[in-house]
Amino acid sequence: MASESKYIHNALKQVHLETSCTSINGFSISGLATYLQFPELDFQVDMGECPLSATSINHVFLTHAHGDHARCLMRHHSLRKMMGVERDSAYYLPEMIVEGAKEWIRSEAMFEGVPESKFRLPDIFAVEPGKMVSLKYRKDLTLKPFCVKHSVPTMGATLFLHKRKLKEEFLGKTANEIIELRKNNVEITREVYEPLLSFTGDCLGESLIQNPEIFKSRILVTECTFLDREDEAMSRKKGHTHLQHIVDALNKFDDEITCEKIILTHFSMKYSERHIREMLDQNVPEKFKEKVIPFI
Ligand SMILES: [Zn+2]
Ligand SMILES: [Zn+2]
Repeated sequence: MASESKYIHNALKQVHLETSCTSINGFSISGLATYLQFPELDFQVDMGECPLSATSINHVFLTHAHGDHARCLMRHHSLRKMMGVERDSAYYLPEMIVEGAKEWIRSEAMFEGVPESKFRLPDIFAVEPGKMVSLKYRKDLTLKPFCVKHSVPTMGATLFLHKRKLKEEFLGKTANEIIELRKNNVEITREVYEPLLSFTGDCLGESLIQNPEIFKSRILVTECTFLDREDEAMSRKKGHTHLQHIVDALNKFDDEITCEKIILTHFSMKYSERHIREMLDQNVPEKFKEKVIPFI
């Protein structure tokens, strides 16, 4: 229905979701814009739009260079400067697109008339698949990127909560015994990485099968551009996920899936809100119905 379509096609009207580790604010419709804010993690994925609420977020991960995901990156940087935010934001970009991004940022600055002598690049960190990197201002959070298949170079990532836990063999010890062990330089803790959030960026459905560890994250955000049976071939051609591919992955990994929520984003703008909800209702396996939530 036309009125429903309009409702979900306004990129500045944010969707809000609550999870056990963070709220999620943002918007994601294919071709229009995608940005996902995780305020309690001081983290954002993609910057297809930059509402004022993004300016308090210090860490931004760009999954790929498509305009609906990337075009407001420098708006975030300059809005923060304009508002007097002193901290430099940290931008995490797939290594393959870093040089292109720097050229783009420079060209945009020259276009706006920034004098060469005043131009300075923001803090851009090139991320590599499998290489862990802790967030600049949140050392308790560590990113582990992975490659996905899309029409252009794209990465998703898992964000882990990094903590130290008492080793099993010391669990029953008293406080005094622990102090004594510490004094004797006994290593009583072990490192633990708890996967809080995984996000895939735009990708083919097969990327879900190739990265099974994402189904161990508390929250999984993955794209679901196409829903209708006749759009299956289109999804492969455009490098996007079809709902059937998600259903196949859910059935394949089944009991191994420990996500609290699986959030679907990036629906094609041709679908109405009602159609999206109906298709999920008809296709998502019964045991996953409560977990799988459309981000609309
Ligand atoms: Zn996209
Ligand atoms: Zn894309």
